[in-house]
Amino acid sequence: MDISVARKRLEEMRADLDRSISVLQGEHPEARADDAADAGAILSEADRNEAMLESVRSQRAAVLSALARVETGEYGNCVDCGKPVAEARLEARPDAARCVGCQAKWDRRRR
Ligand SMILES: [Zn+2]
Repeated sequence: MDISVARKRLEEMRADLDRSISVLQGEHPEARADDAADAGAILSEADRNEAMLESVRSQRAAVLSALARVETGEYGNCVDCGKPVAEARLEARPDAARCVGCQAKWDRRRR
């Protein structure tokens, strides 16, 4: 993928994630707890919201580090083995930091 296309896509992703974060942060389900008969339902909604925020924030971190690699010229290479990441993978996941093999190993290590 052309590096300027990659940068543009990453910047769009960052803008989208920023919007999602402000939407999620704007939702305060606990504020409605006053008149709620079921406080448990409100709590789980807050938990879900928090979990979503967490996942959006980690996506944003991945996008930011991909943008940093664009700047340093390392974008498109696997951060673990240094080999080029498959074009199709970058098309699907412009923020992908690892080739498929290293990503699978990474995921196993984190579990
Ligand atoms: Zn690799």
